[in-house]
Amino acid sequence: MNAKELNLDTIKTILATVPDPEVPVLTLQDLGIIRDVEVIDNVIKVTLTPTYMGCPATAAIRKMVSDALIEAGYPKPELYEKLFPAWTTDWITDEGKEKLKKFGIAPPNPSTGSGMNKPKACPLCESENTEVVSQFGSTACKSLYRCLDCKEPFEYFKCH
Ligand SMILES: [Zn+2]
Repeated sequence: MNAKELNLDTIKTILATVPDPEVPVLTLQDLGIIRDVEVIDNVIKVTLTPTYMGCPATAAIRKMVSDALIEAGYPKPELYEKLFPAWTTDWITDEGKEKLKKFGIAPPNPSTGSGMNKPKACPLCESENTEVVSQFGSTACKSLYRCLDCKEPFEYFKCH
């Protein structure tokens, strides 16, 4: 078999573009869940840390990582899960947080510090005058809020 040359940097670049199935505005890289990529004996080994434990997106993420490499002409990678240390929203990159905000989702607050698991401000008008509508938004990872100033509902990516 004429396998494509397994260049680690190229492989990492491909993986960096894979979107998160639940929040497609973010890539897996923005989320910080790709922990390690290696090529050992011509086999690509990718280590992922799932976001929320038992999140149904985990299976989708594995498939998307596999598919991205296969579509780029690489052999099916071996996927590993690393559960410790557990993923936290602190691993979301600053760029990822900016993207969330632009998408109208309030980014998670740091999990340490104030300990307030609520949005800092409305992502649309920056007002801090918000109220929770539901602890569960479109997915279990987000909750639904409403801004009391611009009256717009928005989702908050819960910190974890
Ligand atoms: Zn607002």
